Amino acid sequence: MLGRPETEDQLLARLLATAIVDLADHSAPAMFKLPYPASAQRVVDLLAARALHCGADAPTSVPDLVRRCQEIPLTRWDLDLAASGVTDADVLIDPVTFTPSQLCYEWAVDASDATADLIENDLLLDVIATCRDRNLPHSYVAFRRLLIEQPILDQMGWMKVTTDQHLDPLLHIVRDCYQPMPAAYVRDATIMTCGRCRCPLIPTLGGGWACELDRCRWEGLKLGHPIPASDDLHVASRPLRVFITGPGRAETELEKAMTRLNLRVEMWPNIDTYDLRISFPSGQIWAVDVKDRASPSILGRTATALRANPPYTHAFYVVPDYRKAQREDYGRVFRAASQATRDGEFEFAFSSELIKAARKELRRA
Ligand SMILES: [Zn+2]
Repeated sequence: MLGRPETEDQLLARLLATAIVDLADHSAPAMFKLPYPASAQRVVDLLAARALHCGADAPTSVPDLVRRCQEIPLTRWDLDLAASGVTDADVLIDPVTFTPSQLCYEWAVDASDATADLIENDLLLDVIATCRDRNLPHSYVAFRRLLIEQPILDQMGWMKVTTDQHLDPLLHIVRDCYQPMPAAYVRDATIMTCGRCRCPLIPTLGGGWACELDRCRWEGLKLGHPIPASDDLHVASRPLRVFITGPGRAETELEKAMTRLNLRVEMWPNIDTYDLRISFPSGQIWAVDVKDRASPSILGRTATALRANPPYTHAFYVVPDYRKAQREDYGRVFRAASQATRDGEFEFAFSSELIKAARKELRRA
């Protein structure tokens, strides 16, 4: 149920972002490796054909494409993306970490449920299917919390996972969600974790470190703790970190805030129908889907009504506050792009607005 059909230029931008994600191979940061995936060469060819047609400038090779994605914001490509709400800050490759930006993943995916549409698609669908078939809601919650709380697993961590009764039925899938720690995160035989999201930081050129998640970057570098590099270390794959670990921070913060208000909160009810189900003494039940996306227009365009199983009285799409500080037009762009909001199927709110609304609802009751 997309709000608006995709234009040719939007499609091209999506193919471009997909090619960059393919190039990065979903795993090894800073490694745009040979042989190049077919998608990258296809985008170079498509852009060249388009340039011939309209006299625009186009990348001459895959390395040239990569350089441009790093240096040239999307607004300055010969693509008409005005309707997509891109800004001059939007580049597909992060110039600090040399890995695909969060926005790049969003463009590459561009679907209502990014997590279910990734290459890891099959993994997540497997988890959801297994939990639904065997009626294992606790296993699903344990799986989500594992990816949020422990994006890095060492031998001890892995041992705890294998002895967790809730994770047990999902072990074979959990194993596939984690990959050996890529060499690009190692400096001086050490991995440094992010003090905010617990993901590995990327060593930067000047001897510093950078987190790949937009929110951590916005809030400023906070070092976690160093871990000696070893073959036993595993890390959740990057798309899972972008679409599960990252927004997981906002989801669990809301859980804490609502619990502090003495409200009953169910996380990922009915095996991920939505993210939070909050019950009020008044009888109101709020269904909340938390999204931490760079692009309000892609999010708005692909946002659909939340499924009413379990049922609710009010539905919300919620975005962490820092996105508003980043882009004051975020809510406006989202609302303009979202048919479902205009149809009154759900409301849009930033995290703090939702908490404020919950307090108000409590006072009203
Ligand atoms: Zn971080």
